[in-house]
Amino acid sequence: MPETMNAATATATGAAPSKPKRPKAKSMLMLGEQTNDLYERARKAKEAGEKVGWSASIFPQEIAETLGLVVLYPENHSAGIAARHQADPFLQECEGPLGYNNDLCAYAKVNLAYASTLEGKSHVELPDGGKMVKPDFLLLTNNICTQLTKWYENLAYSMKIPVFFIDTCYNPWDHVTESRVRYVRSQIDALIENLCKFTGKKWDEERFKKIMKISQRNSYLWERANNLMDHIPSPLSGFELFNYMSCMVCHRGRESTTAILEQLNKEIEQHLKDGTSTYPVKEQYRVSWDGIACWPYLKHNLHTLKQYGINMVASSYGKAWAIEYEDLDGMARAYCFASTNGDNASTMIHRRLEALKRFHCEGTIYHVNRSCKVMDCQMMEVQRQLAKLAGVPFTAFDGDQADYRNYSEAQFETRIQGLVEIMQENKEKKAEEAK
Ligand code: SF4
Repeated sequence: MPETMNAATATATGAAPSKPKRPKAKSMLMLGEQTNDLYERARKAKEAGEKVGWSASIFPQEIAETLGLVVLYPENHSAGIAARHQADPFLQECEGPLGYNNDLCAYAKVNLAYASTLEGKSHVELPDGGKMVKPDFLLLTNNICTQLTKWYENLAYSMKIPVFFIDTCYNPWDHVTESRVRYVRSQIDALIENLCKFTGKKWDEERFKKIMKISQRNSYLWERANNLMDHIPSPLSGFELFNYMSCMVCHRGRESTTAILEQLNKEIEQHLKDGTSTYPVKEQYRVSWDGIACWPYLKHNLHTLKQYGINMVASSYGKAWAIEYEDLDGMARAYCFASTNGDNASTMIHRRLEALKRFHCEGTIYHVNRSCKVMDCQMMEVQRQLAKLAGVPFTAFDGDQADYRNYSEAQFETRIQGLVEIMQENKEKKAEEAK
């Protein structure tokens, strides 16, 4: 059936009328404008001779925002390329002429080939025309993983630009110790000083306080939107929240994010009031998703889950950007504890157990991500212990957040089928016990 076939034509031909496409929510349109604006600001800053940075996704962004620096996010950008099925030439270039190993994180592979093209050393056609302008400096933390460290070292070496690095180290406890706060705080102080020297910008304490407040408000709104998914049935299709992550990753300290998230919260509340949902079919099962979204196959994931009425209502991943703090010590503490990759297994299990209960999940789907070894590392033990503690079944599938070659549609479908059988059995048992 041609995509443009409308209900009237369909009836005339005897085919079932296709569902009209839901218009994009206002918050989504605002999000698109915000993204375009960021790349436009980067382009203009570059033209004006200003220094532009590239940053790791869970770096204390509020520092760059306070200094008025334009910063772009390679992980986010690579995710977009992967989601639009444009990653292949970058992966080939990275593993071929550039000589990097296939085992590297695919975000890194896409970005290293992109960067090499910006430098004129590679000649991959840039699908976005090069809007990720060449950086003058890099902002890096290892609170997500150490692959990022090597990735950024390679960028810095090749482009001959500095890396401003904050070492948060692995967290063996369920809290951040005071000695660690002092260790990270001293690096934040040094970072501010060095970044000011390098860029010629001045630190303004009052502006920082304002940015911090905006960032806190945004974290609150983001967490609130996530938490509204605890309603049954959920007012949103869970995968939609993944789309909004870019405003938390790239614009945590900006008022435009406040406007987007206020609008998103309003839209969710309206759904709750009207008893509607953006989830396209009846919600039969509620599950949590563990790991990064499988960007090249988001559509296939959603389509498969939809066949069984499975809605993903909780995710361990998106909440990593709900970072709250009130001063520079608090900033040090919060960024040490932001990413689940920096947590020990007990902390991960505790956080996930709470989420399973709060969001009334009946199953968990683990994305065993070929790229993200650090995320997979504790996953097997987390699966085993969590399933026992929560009494909630799980399934796992092999995938990748950006390398489309590491995924099997058939495997995903059969794993979900297996999970549904167990969830259905559990439902029937519960109904029997309630009699
Ligand atoms: S996807 Fe995993 S390996 Fe890649 S940068 Fe993120 S945390 Fe690191």
